Amino acid sequence: MFCGKCNAVISPVKSAAVCISCETNYHPVCIKIKTLSNFKSIKDFWNCDLCLSKLKNVSTRNKKN
Ligand SMILES: [Zn+2]
Ligand SMILES: [Zn+2]
Repeated sequence: MFCGKCNAVISPVKSAAVCISCETNYHPVCIKIKTLSNFKSIKDFWNCDLCLSKLKNVSTRNKKN
């Protein structure tokens, strides 16, 4: 399994942070989360930067209209 940010192997697999929208795996460090225990508290609703910017684009568009 490879990190969506740095493309390096994530090992062990359990240590990956997973985006709920695109299911891409990341090293917690690559998404600015220092430890996996930090990620565990937000993993149920965590979106990666790509999905987050998509969500933001949608909501800004809606607000403007
Ligand atoms: Zn990485
Ligand atoms: Zn994502």
